[in-house]
Amino acid sequence: PVILAIESSCDETSASVCVNGQILSNVIANQTIHEAYGGVVPELASRVHQQNIVPAVQQALSNAKVSKNDIDAVAFTRGPGLLGSLLVGVSFAKAFALARNLPLIEVNHMQAHILAHFIADKKPSFPFMCLTVSGGHTQIVLVKDYFDMEIIGQTMDDAAGEAMDKTSKILGLPYPGGPLIDKNARNGNPDAYKFPEPQIPGFDFSFSGLKTSILYFIRDNVGKNPNFVQENMNDICASVEKRIATILLNKLKRAALQYNIKELALAGGVSANTGLRLGLQQLCAENGWGCFIPKFEYCTDNAAMIAIAGYYKYLKKDFVGQDVAPMARMIF
Ligand code: ATP
Ligand code: MG
Ligand code: FE
Repeated sequence: PVILAIESSCDETSASVCVNGQILSNVIANQTIHEAYGGVVPELASRVHQQNIVPAVQQALSNAKVSKNDIDAVAFTRGPGLLGSLLVGVSFAKAFALARNLPLIEVNHMQAHILAHFIADKKPSFPFMCLTVSGGHTQIVLVKDYFDMEIIGQTMDDAAGEAMDKTSKILGLPYPGGPLIDKNARNGNPDAYKFPEPQIPGFDFSFSGLKTSILYFIRDNVGKNPNFVQENMNDICASVEKRIATILLNKLKRAALQYNIKELALAGGVSANTGLRLGLQQLCAENGWGCFIPKFEYCTDNAAMIAIAGYYKYLKKDFVGQDVAPMARMIF
């Protein structure tokens, strides 16, 4: 089947074409308008989605050398995400499917982040354990089948990406700060400063205490030396990155041992982080576990992951009707 997929849950407008499980195009229009505000402004995001969606789809079709007449189904992100943003993608998908009499496939954005692993030639086998770390979520997911997933641990407050972005804000870096923390950390000493590891029972996470301890650490040091942050930026970023990565990987390791899982995977935007990628590779190498890390372009929000999820739903004929509506909160 030829599947057209649409992603618009946050601030990326993305369209992808997938033919028989092969991704032929993945067009991502980033929104720069939010940089001035230090975070995504929902109302602006949905307006920019409206401007970007038709060109993104046209580009995805032309990159894939596929015509509108070839499409067999339209997949779209139903949720979770910003309601106004989702509405643009859902409305486009519904209108396109209605006009061309095509089946519609709804996709859960968080499941799609995990199913992005099935784009590559080297695919994980079930069951595997996936650490999903993004701007809004931090989850340890036991993946038993394509659409049979169980969240065994999650954050009780901030997400890992939020911790990255809030720390970078404290350091005076522009939004989104995650990639900048990564860049600076490559030239810093990860053991320069020690930040606390929260003691949370089970496989759940908490990052709000870490954020506060970083805030106080910076405030106290800037009090003694006004140039503390500028002079030590790389070491601070490396130390913060290491702490966030060890918090995540220590829990993931315990979960893998308890559930006797031999393949570990990373998903979501924060899986673009170099320290986390290296840390997972090391953990898997030490234990003889299979290690699955998506290509960079399939880590942050993209429609290729919606397309591959849509492909597996198409095989089951798992379609939805025109009465489908976006969901800001959506569990699986
Ligand atoms: P969700 O998927 O939970 O709805 P989202 O779609 O906003 O949230 P993603 O696009 O999956 O999230 O990920 C964005 C997050 O990833 C941001 O917090 C960003 O700072 C972080 N991020 C991206 N690249 C890196 C990197 N190299 N190092 C650290 N963090 C990164
Ligand atoms: Mg984004
Ligand atoms: Fe996402």
